[in-house]
Amino acid sequence: MIGAGPPIAASLARRVRARVDGVVQGVGFRPFVHRLAAEHGLAGFVRNDARGVEIEVEGAADAVERFLEALRSDGPPLASVDAVHRAAIEVRGSETFEISPSVGGAADALVSADAATCADCLAELRDPADRRHRYPFVNCTNCGPRFTIVRSVPYDRPATTMAGFTMCAACQTEYDDPADRRFHAQPNACPACGPKAWVHGGRPAEAGDLDAVGLAAALLRDGAILAVKGIGGFHLACRADDEAAVARLRARKHREERPFALMAADLEAARALVALDDEEVALLTSPARPIVLARRLAGAPVAASVAPGSRELGVMLPYSPLHHLLAGDAGGPLVMTSGNLSDEPIAFTDADALARLEAIADAFLLHDRPIHTRTDDSVVRVIGGRGAVLRRSRGLVPASLALPVAAGRPVLACGAELKSTFCVARGSRAWVSHHVGDLRNAETLGSFREGIAHFERLFDVVPEVVAHDLHPDYLSTGYALDREGVELVAVQHHHAHLAACLAEHGVPGPAVGAIYDGTGYGADGTAWGGEILVGDLVSFERAGHLAAVRLPGGDRAVREPWRMACSWLVAAGGPAGDVPLHLRAHVDQERWTAVARLAASGFAAPVTTSMGRLFDAVAALCGIHPVVTYEGQAAIQLEALADAGTDGAYFFEADLDARPLILEILADLDAGTAPAVVSARLHRAVAGATAGACAAAASSAGLGIVVLSGGVFQNRLLAALTRDALEALGLRVLMPERLPANDGGISYGQAAVAAARGG
Ligand code: ZN
Ligand code: ZN
Ligand code: FE
Repeated sequence: MIGAGPPIAASLARRVRARVDGVVQGVGFRPFVHRLAAEHGLAGFVRNDARGVEIEVEGAADAVERFLEALRSDGPPLASVDAVHRAAIEVRGSETFEISPSVGGAADALVSADAATCADCLAELRDPADRRHRYPFVNCTNCGPRFTIVRSVPYDRPATTMAGFTMCAACQTEYDDPADRRFHAQPNACPACGPKAWVHGGRPAEAGDLDAVGLAAALLRDGAILAVKGIGGFHLACRADDEAAVARLRARKHREERPFALMAADLEAARALVALDDEEVALLTSPARPIVLARRLAGAPVAASVAPGSRELGVMLPYSPLHHLLAGDAGGPLVMTSGNLSDEPIAFTDADALARLEAIADAFLLHDRPIHTRTDDSVVRVIGGRGAVLRRSRGLVPASLALPVAAGRPVLACGAELKSTFCVARGSRAWVSHHVGDLRNAETLGSFREGIAHFERLFDVVPEVVAHDLHPDYLSTGYALDREGVELVAVQHHHAHLAACLAEHGVPGPAVGAIYDGTGYGADGTAWGGEILVGDLVSFERAGHLAAVRLPGGDRAVREPWRMACSWLVAAGGPAGDVPLHLRAHVDQERWTAVARLAASGFAAPVTTSMGRLFDAVAALCGIHPVVTYEGQAAIQLEALADAGTDGAYFFEADLDARPLILEILADLDAGTAPAVVSARLHRAVAGATAGACAAAASSAGLGIVVLSGGVFQNRLLAALTRDALEALGLRVLMPERLPANDGGISYGQAAVAAARGG
């Protein structure tokens, strides 16, 4: 019990009960309320319950008003107040203000996302006189792990993976003191009582009396590859400027060609790697600390094999004290790539990491704070001046999103398959999961199932409606069909992309959508992916699409883009007989002829309208990645190559028939035009044709809004050109920002559709 101001004459006093909705647990909200009540001389109490925070205050009427005002406006940095509901109640004559124990009940609390180490904690970490000097787990109510350590709600220490650590007297005093910045900081810890780090399986040349992180950093300086346990899982780390180490890491990760993410010790170090505008700096230094894809600087001190052929680098800043120490001691930028073999999910338990990463890592930096939910780093890129999330995960999840049309019954949306996420929704709130990954991996499918159960508990959603993709073979569809006693809602893939973007912007539609991606199951059972739709959250019509071509060899045509080049040439009736100029070094005549035959006959060659595959085809004609190791690789390279300085565009009309375009590109390349020029002209042609197609659909439907989504619009050049062209025509353009344009956004779109259909 803590004394408040002087008692107020009961006749003048008011008592108000307030409920605060939003992210208010695990973010220092109760001590904030306590301070605020003291400042305004109010009595009463605050407590966490299963729905958020409940407050009763009593005192002078104007003080109560000012208090309620400040609740909304002055909250702690990680809190996010959506609404304050108030009701006048009977005065009780309370004389003190207390922080009461949490009450349980139905779990409805909003758990916050993991947040990067705050400035105060960082100062302690670096202060030799502080009891937490160089302690890799320092945190407070404003920072530290949250979502990744939460087992259930209400968010209190026993419900986290800190349950096994009993606080020492000093930590307990901080935890109990409402005036302390660690009051009720659930992961509060110190070297005497908290988690510990250690190095397993390696010893640096100069060990001296280094602590665990110091030893790990010395190993990195010696050229070692380290598996590092962090917040949401393991990273594989090495010095980014050590070509031998990076090449070894790449070789051990098995034919992995994706660019490696980097961690720079601080903003200044990041500026030596990439060019950063204000928006990119804001993203890089935000509490979510995502990986930011930004333009690589010539002369960046980074080994060639970090991101071969890429004009961009993915850079992040340290987001845990352990990372701050490690990146600071390592003496240069670090590769920090996810701790897995290609196509596997990242390791997040010690046993799993030791088993799976043993053949990759020379040593391990481990700690004994368990990770409850495996969570990858989030990835963002600035597209058209705005931050766009490409992978929504650690630091961003589980923040809720609104639904423009509230769900009448609780909804589970199962998402797509490759960049899988799921979404639970209740009323006008939706919680989209962290990036789960490729469900065709058995372990990932297991995390998908467990993740759904976890979210259902955390957010008290008992699904009565289950939304899923139309694709009968998606494992997420299979999961949905196995749920018993629910109403199923099937949502077409590209409609879900459209709905996700509309819903994120709070727009119910109708609108026109250009939805371009690799593939999605069409309403007619064929593979769609270059779609002009007109629709709203409930339904849609297909207003146009890219000309259909064959996928010779089915999925093999995705892994081998040269097959798409062949297919497009066959479709265009062009000279498909001989291997084109830039492909001669990669494909022999016999295979080319066989694939041309498949494309012409349609045998083992389903049709597709995929825009992603068109970009693949053009990349292959340019000799860029005739074979890829991950979807989108060739298209990403083609974008990187585009020479924006050249002018001209290919002939590509609003009917989206790309056959003349392909013939023109072939002729251009045969005439010796550089692929960089071809790429720029392709981007302009696709942007122009898309704007034309959308404008035509908008005018015939009498609409003024155009959505650009689907994974292809992660192409920054295409997105910017298309947006500019549409805006020049007076149309309002919406693009995904908080959710990925790729299939990571599908689950939210499905939930928005299910809710709008009266789910
Ligand atoms: Zn802190
Ligand atoms: Zn302690
Ligand atoms: Fe898609």
